[in-house]
Amino acid sequence: MPTLLPPVTFFPGPSKVFPEVKNFMAEAFDAGLLSISHRSETFNQLSEATIKLLKSKLNIPDDYWVFYTTSATESWEIIPQSLTKHKSVHFYNGSFGEKWFQYTQKIHPSAEAHPFKINQHLNPWEMEVAKDAEIICLTHNETSNGTRLPEDTFSALREMYPNQLIAVDVTSSIFGTPLPFSDADIWYGSVQKCFGLPAGLGLLIVSPRALDVAKEIADRKHYDSLLTLQDNMAKFQTSHTPNVLGIYLLKRVLETQLSPEENEHALLARAQRYYKLIDQLNNVCPLIENVDVRSQTVIAVQVEDKALLPRLKAKAIDSGLLLGSGYGQWKESTFRIANFPAIQVQEVDLLCDFLIEELG
Ligand SMILES: *Cc1c(COP(=O)(O)O)cnc(C)c1O
Repeated sequence: MPTLLPPVTFFPGPSKVFPEVKNFMAEAFDAGLLSISHRSETFNQLSEATIKLLKSKLNIPDDYWVFYTTSATESWEIIPQSLTKHKSVHFYNGSFGEKWFQYTQKIHPSAEAHPFKINQHLNPWEMEVAKDAEIICLTHNETSNGTRLPEDTFSALREMYPNQLIAVDVTSSIFGTPLPFSDADIWYGSVQKCFGLPAGLGLLIVSPRALDVAKEIADRKHYDSLLTLQDNMAKFQTSHTPNVLGIYLLKRVLETQLSPEENEHALLARAQRYYKLIDQLNNVCPLIENVDVRSQTVIAVQVEDKALLPRLKAKAIDSGLLLGSGYGQWKESTFRIANFPAIQVQEVDLLCDFLIEELG
């Protein structure tokens, strides 16, 4: 029986994995890594090598710590548990930033929400951060609506609020673009977006300053309390049995794929191609009108007539293409295109040809 090829996926998470992942998985199997103890010397070496590669390839400052988590969602809890006494402030314009706020609010009812409009350029000089806020929470790339914060946001905030910690969700941008790690204290994400890997592994990157705050707060109530993670990471280990396969795959992707700078260069050109095309098509437009806040890694396309959307998605499947669904309040009126490094040029060509055919 002939097996049907799965469609090329443009979902922004879980998303297309690098084709090399197939061989990397076999390597891990053949090396016996899938059964090793996470307290063994073999694991320590794998983990240490992966952390070192991450730091060098992503340009993470030497004195920052990198931790493995299970997901970005887990960091939504670690930050209020281990890095906040009472109050964090949350600036967001979409579902992921809002979810982070909602998780936090369950732990600290005084957490403060500052929603803003999707076309608004968040201006640090106009952000009103409460004096008693300990931590400013931002979503670098809002996957639900295809917006991103301008590059200089973090350094400006740092300058204005030198006493507060700054935490940034970079789940759908990390590895797709270089990040100014020293301009904020906490950066987190997971590997099923720009790293082109299967889900089940998250990363949490923390400044020495934030670890000092964690020491002061001294939270040790949770298996994933930051201090517990730090005690284990001093030996390159984790508090729980980690996703060893995920860590191995991450190491191999870091060893074999382009750098964030190179990725950004390619993704920027592709994003421009998509936005230009969408402007020329009928019945669709970019959800985000303000070009300054448009994401390069997730492109949200608004469909003028909602009835068209299911038909378009079905036709895409017939052409071997899986369009990313809309998310949250934009679920019924948009589709999203992941612009991640694992997607090949020929696949972008296929999608563009399909869109011209259907909407040109
Ligand atoms: C995907 C995503 C998350 C959730 O990631 P998980 O690994 O599923 O926890 C959080 N924030 C943003 C911005 C995302 O894109």
